[in-house]
Amino acid sequence: MSLAQTREACQPTDLTVDTSAGEFTVEWADGHRSVYRLAWMRSVCPCASCREDRRQAEEDPMRLAVGPPPDPKVDSAELVGNYAVRFTWADGHGNGIYGFSSLRASCPCPACNQGEPDDLLCS
Ligand SMILES: [Zn+2]
Ligand SMILES: [Zn+2]
Repeated sequence: MSLAQTREACQPTDLTVDTSAGEFTVEWADGHRSVYRLAWMRSVCPCASCREDRRQAEEDPMRLAVGPPPDPKVDSAELVGNYAVRFTWADGHGNGIYGFSSLRASCPCPACNQGEPDDLLCS
């Protein structure tokens, strides 16, 4: 695979947030299409405080049973340069920056990962 193809694979041509379906769809420059559930996007939020929460939940699984799951409702989504998208969630949480290369690497379609990965993958 040439470098040019690698870049194309990580370059979105279209990003759609469908709040009623709870889905985030990315059309990539190489023609691939990825559909992510917003609940999954929220659960893998890459910001420092969510990473810390997940680390603590791993150490103490009982923590998971206490609070409600994070709200996957999206307030807004904006591009960060040409390499990432940032989601602001309805609960005010908005530090998660999803790099396009990580999103592409985490594509849940059968050809890529056969389902949602537990965490954002690095390309
Ligand atoms: Zn977060
Ligand atoms: Zn895929």
